[in-house]
Amino acid sequence: MEYKPTIGLEIHAELKTRTKMFCDSKNDPDEPKPNVNICPICMAHPGTLPVINKEAVKHVLRVGTAVGGKLADFTEFDRKNYFYPDLPKGYQISQYKYPLISNGILANIELERIHLEEDTGRSAHETGDYSLVDFNRAGIPLMELVTKPVIETAQQAVFFAKELQLLLRYVGASDANMEKGEMRVEANVSVSQDQELGTKVEVKNLNSFKSVGRAIEYEIKRQSELLDKGEKVVQETRGWDENKGKTFSQRIKEESHDYRYFPDPDLPKLYISEIPEFLGESLKKELPELPWDRRERYKKEFDITDEDIEMYVQNEKFGNLFEGITKELLPDKKLIKLASNYIASDLRNLIGDDTSTFTDKTASFAKLMRMIQSGEISSRGAKDILAIMVSSGGEPEEIVKEMNLVQKSDEGELKGIIEKIIADKPQVVADFKAGKEKSLQFLIGQGMKETKGAANPSILKKLFLESLSKS
Ligand code: MN
Repeated sequence: MEYKPTIGLEIHAELKTRTKMFCDSKNDPDEPKPNVNICPICMAHPGTLPVINKEAVKHVLRVGTAVGGKLADFTEFDRKNYFYPDLPKGYQISQYKYPLISNGILANIELERIHLEEDTGRSAHETGDYSLVDFNRAGIPLMELVTKPVIETAQQAVFFAKELQLLLRYVGASDANMEKGEMRVEANVSVSQDQELGTKVEVKNLNSFKSVGRAIEYEIKRQSELLDKGEKVVQETRGWDENKGKTFSQRIKEESHDYRYFPDPDLPKLYISEIPEFLGESLKKELPELPWDRRERYKKEFDITDEDIEMYVQNEKFGNLFEGITKELLPDKKLIKLASNYIASDLRNLIGDDTSTFTDKTASFAKLMRMIQSGEISSRGAKDILAIMVSSGGEPEEIVKEMNLVQKSDEGELKGIIEKIIADKPQVVADFKAGKEKSLQFLIGQGMKETKGAANPSILKKLFLESLSKS
């Protein structure tokens, strides 16, 4: 039978701040040496007091502003009590009743809330009967975003997670690298036949966008098959095994009352609207252009492919480089389209993701594009010049002279080359005369080869046709 899937996402992201959420230990998730970025506060020694990290609060407020969420007037931190060795205090400081952000929309999906909490340490379960705990991560500021259960397909869920990752990177809140655990996605999946929601299962350990998609699809299928057999779906937390392509039961899901939430008496209440730099208006002014706005603007302003647009949106640095170049080429949209072809393929192959080496060359690049457009150089020649501009610098018009790459359109010089090719390849000439169109392409290719790519192919074609009709 067909069941209607309902999916909600819970996504955690480690925030980029200098120090941890409630103390001045360094926030460095890449620190390889265990237990160096710790202090009595994040190790929960008796008598220590937490202090709220303002920058972390601001990150969440910025994200909330970007998704059009409601900023809390009043907010507080709560203790979420549970016992686990990677949690030094025996509770996690989180937010329960009063999240920093409520509502908002991202990728057409309605949000429930965005709140701020702290990360746990990391346990390493060693072979043998012991585990090791590294507390470097304990107390790193963690943003938790919860969507409403309104997602209907795995693809939609994956798209949402990708858009959130982009947003976090654009506003500088997090690097949100899933493979590094900087962004962690959990999916609540249920299926039902009617309007009422089915029993939900929470899926964890999703370490890539691919896993998110696969795990949700697997769960929809597993739950549908259970219902088909007349069995019940158990409300539980399940892990995802990427190798087996299956979810597996981990534990029966806790209810929120199991956590004994209560407001943390060690932390002050926050009245957001009384803190000027936390006001929605001033946060809005600080926001950069958001990824979806950039996507729309490129679609409207330029006649470039969707693939190119997506590359510039996903890779903000290349987007900025593209914009720098368009400033030199406006208002010629044809020239911008040509430039985009070179930026998205040739230039990207040459410089990789490091655009910094090329940002001062936008004017030279624009000149190169004009030289192609005017027919002064061939596209083949342009690729060579670009490679030199990247490796040793220099202006395109000078490189052209040095390399003798000026497109050969001088018919006298080219005629000599053509006669030689015709004399050398009697069989190809015969084929052409017998009606084989491809033979002409081959001859033109020979001409390009002879001139090291400097000949103008359309002039070569014209000259070959003239010569061949005479002989
Ligand atoms: Mn959480």
